[in-house]
Order: sequence, then C-alpha cells, then structure tokens
Amino acid sequence: MHTGQRPRVVIVGSGFGGLFAAQRLRKAPVDVTLVAKTTHHLFQPLLYQVATGILSPGEIAPATREILRNQENTRVVLGEVTDVDLEARTVTSTVLGRTTVHAYDELIVAAGAGQSYFGNDHFAEFAPGMKSIDDALELRGRIFGAFELAELATDPAEIDRLLTFVVVGAGPTGVEMAGQIAELARRTLQRDFTTIDPTSARVILLDAAPQVLPPFGSLGQKAHKRLNEIGIEVQLGAMVTDVDIDGIVVKDGDGHQRRIHAATKIWAAGVQASPLGTQLGEQSGAAVDRAGRISVQPDLTLPCHPEVHVVGDMISLNRLPGVAQVAIQGGRFAADAIKARVAGRATAPEFRYHDKGSMATISRFSAVAQIGKIKLSGFIAWMMWLVVHLAYIVGFRSRVTTVLHWMVSFLGRGRSERVATQQQVYGRLALEELGPDFEVSKTGGQRHSGQPVDVTGRQSA
Ligand SMILES: Cc1cc2nc3c(=O)[nH]c(=O)nc-3n(C[C@H](O)[C@H](O)[C@H](O)COP(=O)(O)OP(=O)(O)OC[C@H]3O[C@@H](n4cnc5c(N)ncnc54)[C@H](O)[C@@H]3O)c2cc1C
Repeated sequence: MHTGQRPRVVIVGSGFGGLFAAQRLRKAPVDVTLVAKTTHHLFQPLLYQVATGILSPGEIAPATREILRNQENTRVVLGEVTDVDLEARTVTSTVLGRTTVHAYDELIVAAGAGQSYFGNDHFAEFAPGMKSIDDALELRGRIFGAFELAELATDPAEIDRLLTFVVVGAGPTGVEMAGQIAELARRTLQRDFTTIDPTSARVILLDAAPQVLPPFGSLGQKAHKRLNEIGIEVQLGAMVTDVDIDGIVVKDGDGHQRRIHAATKIWAAGVQASPLGTQLGEQSGAAVDRAGRISVQPDLTLPCHPEVHVVGDMISLNRLPGVAQVAIQGGRFAADAIKARVAGRATAPEFRYHDKGSMATISRFSAVAQIGKIKLSGFIAWMMWLVVHLAYIVGFRSRVTTVLHWMVSFLGRGRSERVATQQQVYGRLALEELGPDFEVSKTGGQRHSGQPVDVTGRQSA
C-alpha cells in the first residue's frame, strides 16, 4: 500500500455489488472512488415495471451520488472502465472522450453482465433486451406504440402482427414481462381504443428449455398453469433461429421451423458478463467461461492478486446464481476483507452465500416463491414479493411513490407512466447508426481525447 495517505479503494460499478460494497466501507479509514458508467444505481428486478408503464425510471434508479452523499470517504465518478492494469494497479475510465486513470491499493470489480444473444447480436436490432433504463424505455415505447399503430392499421393480418408480443426466455424476467403485457392489454387498455380490441392481443412466452422457470422446479408448473389462465401462450422447446422486423423464426423440438408474425419482440434469454472479466482473466490467468464469467478464488479474489476482488454477476464460483443477493453479499464480503486487512486482521478465507430464496411474479396477486424447502404460490407469495422488493428499493421517497404506483396498477387498472417519446424508441438505433464519435461531438464531451487525466500521482499510462 502506498505511504503517506489512506489506502485507496476503487470500486467499479454502482449496481448491487458495487453499491453495497461502498456502503459497507462507510466508516473504514480508506478513500473510496466508485466509478460507474451510469450516474444511477439500478434496481434491475423492477425494470419490467418501467417497460410496462407501472413505475417511473426514478423509482428504480436513484442517483448514486445522492445515496452516498453523506459518506465522507467516498467519491462517485462517472465513466466506463475500459482498462484494468493489475501490474500498475490502475483503472482507466472514459466518458465522452475524457479519460481518467485511477490508482488503487484495493480494487472491487462489480461490473455485472449484459444481454447475450448467443452469438446472434443482430437480433438486438429487432428484439431489445432488458438490462438498462434505456432498454426499458425503448420497450415501453414499442409496446404502447404497437397498440397505437394497430388502431391505425386496416389490414387484419397487419393488426394481428402489431398485436402479437413475443417474449423470448421463460426465466423470471420473461415470465414477469409476459404477465405484465397481458395485464396491460386485458385490464389497462381494455377501453382505450375505438377500432381495435386490445384484449385480443396475443402474448407468447417461448423458450428452448422444456420448462417455465427452470430453477423453481415444481413451482415452474404452477407458474405455467397461471400463465395459461391469464391468456399467455407458452411455447417450450422452441429455439429462436432468426429475428427480423416482421417477426421471429423458431425451430421446435421436432426440427420443424415456423415463423411467428410479431411486431414486438423482447429478449429475456441470456446474459454475458462484462468484458472486464476477460481482461482480468488474461492478466491473472484465472479461467473465464463461455458466458464471460471469471473463476475467482474462494475468497472472491484473483489468483496472486489478493488486492483484487470480483463480485456479483461477473463471477463463476460454486455455481452461484446471477442474482442480486450473490452480488450484495459478495460486495459486503469484499469490503469486510479490505477493512480487516487495513486493521491488520486476518481476512475470511471463504465467501459463504446465504440463499434467502427466490421469487417471481406472474400477474397481479400471483407469484411463486421458494425459500429453502418451502414453496409458496399465489397471493401469499405475491405479498412476500411485494414486501421484499419494497425493502430493497433505495430511499424513502422512492418507496412511497412506488407503493402509490402499485396501488394505481394493482388495485386499480391504470398505469401511471405511459409516456413514450420518439427519442426513447429510435434513439438507440440512431446512435448505433451514427457511431461513437457523434455522441462526443454533440454532447459537450472532449473532442480530442488527448492525454488522460491522471489521478494516480504518476504520469498516465
Ligand atoms: C431484468 C432483470 C430482472 C432481474 N430480476 C431479478 C430478481 O427478481 N431477483 C434477483 O435476485 N435478481 C434479479 N436479477 C439479477 C440481478 O439484478 C443481478 O444479479 C444483479 O444486478 C447483479 O449485481 P452486480 O453488481 O453484479 O451487477 P449490476 O447490478 O448489473 O451492476 C453493474 C454495474 O456496473 C456498471 N458497469 C458495467 N460495466 C462497466 C464498466 N465497464 N465501467 C464502469 N461501470 C460499469 C453498471 O453501470 C452497473 O452500475 C435481474 C436482472 C435483470 C436484468
């Protein structure tokens, strides 16, 4: 550790792993720099409620700076980490052409995972995933927009295409998304249109796996039954082979290929860990699996680098699932190891995950929950889901407005957040078309990146 100052801890990411690690270091005699590529902490489990107009982005994405503002030892910095140098112990981040190098004595990497299209990245153009606020707002625009376009269409086949919604992936995210689109069509929009009947919308949930919610075992069958009851077509053993503007092509178990005509396709099928995992693997010799997850030591550090901790969705260890609790507990464990080292105490040799259970909602008043050996479904599971999610939403203000919005949607029929703008629907594709230089040149960023800003006290790498 460098002399003369307090140990410098750099945390990459403001998701569950990064934020909870930072908060755990609140009173530690260290200087923390949290670098993340967004200015907010994102509560991903409720993204589908933003996409279907129940919640506003602010409720699930509070500003990280605000959450940590009373934490005197912590500085929050915006930037995408592009490079980690394990030898020099530096992290390089960049935002709009401005590059910054941060030196560390201890590093916690919690950069999470992005969407995986299993090698078919071109599907993303027509089937957005759901990993960010941008994704949720784009989907909201596409979902509500499909009903608007159907109202204008005159050809019955075109109306059917516009009123067909396909969700790919029957895990918790896909199930929750499909359930909410069905409720939106059958309850909220029921009386809002003149020409079309929104309740006739077709919602299809498909997956190559043979069961809904595979990790939930027998609860998956209950969820399947409930999905059918609310009018969702569940198609299992169906592998997506192509996606285009008009629809989706699937191959069934018997090898037969068929096309589903659908304007709105939503990808909730796979994850790919942050590319930083591969970078760390190359430098440390740690193995990286096909999903980009890095094999960490039992104490969540990298081989021969006890000062580098990796937590959350990026890691591969004892088949731990990619869920919020793994990231939260991992972030806290890494912070505790740092605190112990700074205090001259021994660090815990092994991360032990305490499984607090998993749950998924299907529709209003209906969910499945598995806590240890206890399996619950229906209203009780839904109430548990409600309480647990409310507890993890950050900030009193967000909790209050979330409860109000839930009352509007679950007790009433409304959706408080139905705004959809052109920017939201077309922005991502337009930016991709224009390329990264466009963003820098039009948004006040640094035009010529020049020399990186060096906050290491040395010359920049
Ligand atoms: C739609 C959806 C629904 C989910 N539902 C549930 C659920 O019901 N229950 C559950 O337990 N889990 C759920 N999960 C999974 C859960 O959200 C993740 O397991 C958890 O967020 C992982 O935490 P993390 O800190 O590893 O990563 P994240 O929370 O993804 O955070 C990663 C952070 O790193 C930042 N970042 C990424 N790359 C860089 C970079 N290069 N430079 C700087 N910053 C970077 C990101 O901006 C972000 O702040 C869901 C996930 C999704 C997407």
